[in-house]
Amino acid sequence: MGVGWPRNDVSQAVLKRKTFQKGKVMRDPVSKSHLWKKPCWEKYFRVKTPGEAVQILEELQGESRVIAGGTDLLARMRQEGFGVKALVDITCIPGLGEIRSEDGLIRLGAVATPKDLSQSSVLREKAFCLAQAASQIGTPQIRNLGTLGGNLCNASPAADLAPPLLIFEAKAKIAGGKGEREVPLDSFFTGPGQTVLNPSEILKEIIIPELRLDASATFLKLGRRKAADLALVSVAVLLAMDRKERTCQLIRIGLGSVAPTPIRAKQAEAFLIGRRLDDRSIQEAAQSAMRESQPISDVRASSQYRREMVGVMVERAIRKCLEQLEGKDV
Ligand SMILES: Cc1cc2nc3c(=O)[nH]c(=O)nc-3n(C[C@H](O)[C@H](O)[C@H](O)COP(=O)(O)OP(=O)(O)OC[C@H]3O[C@@H](n4cnc5c(N)ncnc54)[C@H](O)[C@@H]3O)c2cc1C
Repeated sequence: MGVGWPRNDVSQAVLKRKTFQKGKVMRDPVSKSHLWKKPCWEKYFRVKTPGEAVQILEELQGESRVIAGGTDLLARMRQEGFGVKALVDITCIPGLGEIRSEDGLIRLGAVATPKDLSQSSVLREKAFCLAQAASQIGTPQIRNLGTLGGNLCNASPAADLAPPLLIFEAKAKIAGGKGEREVPLDSFFTGPGQTVLNPSEILKEIIIPELRLDASATFLKLGRRKAADLALVSVAVLLAMDRKERTCQLIRIGLGSVAPTPIRAKQAEAFLIGRRLDDRSIQEAAQSAMRESQPISDVRASSQYRREMVGVMVERAIRKCLEQLEGKDV
């Protein structure tokens, strides 16, 4: 087990700066607006296996945190000024960043970065909408540093990777003291910032099936601006249809930023199954998704605007999938 700096220069700079501040009450040199009252952590462990991570997390029950890219965690520690006994860096565990396809399944290591996901040939070929979503996260720096696991374990309702994974009915592989378990992603999130993980467990892998050849999927994100913004609303849709009858055989709709957790619009899905995909049915499904969303108003948008946009974007995403299906030669 190594004790040291994480893999990247940015975190290294942040960590060094904080180490120099250990135990002192001082002004944050970057923003000059925060006062640091205590050290953020006492020990930094860089582990080589999931078992080592779990062991440390168990020994320091509730007083340690997993750190991957640190883009969410360090920002929160800094904002809220809280400290922990230890940070457990899992980014050097061999194989934990791999993306591979076997027997019709795609396995995504928890520390794969958004950049890895967006450039992965496996995803581009077999689950393109996930690569699409990853390419729209934050800035190039965030896409280099952040991780899939961090995006999901942070459990923000706006996590961009959640809606596309929900429509693939992803499973989360979790390692803990009692071994490994698999949890469907739609029961992984339990509230804003909350998941089914207990404090000594880590997310190891996400597993999704490859996209069926006769289906199509897409991801759309609405932010206040085109780049480097969290979603006001995000929508992922997966669709398969009977091409002769133009009836809907399979539809999954994932929504982000419009409920306490990322959700599936299951009533809208149930409404469309078996129906002919025409203007009327698509609009009614979009209205149903609007009713299923429970957005809040905040500094970025009102709940009313968000709900309206759910309708617009669900309709747009279904039409985009239809266009893709019509252009497909299956
Ligand atoms: C400027 C900026 C822009 C951003 N833009 C976006 C955006 O557009 N879209 C978006 O979705 N997000 C965005 N984010 C949020 C963030 O960058 C992503 O959610 C990122 O993927 C988090 O990954 P991380 O590895 O940095 O997480 P970390 O900060 O390392 O961890 C986040 C949380 O998850 C836990 N954790 C991490 N990995 C694991 C694991 N494998 N097992 C158990 N627990 C774990 C940590 O303990 C912590 O509580 C942005 C952040 C910033 C600062």
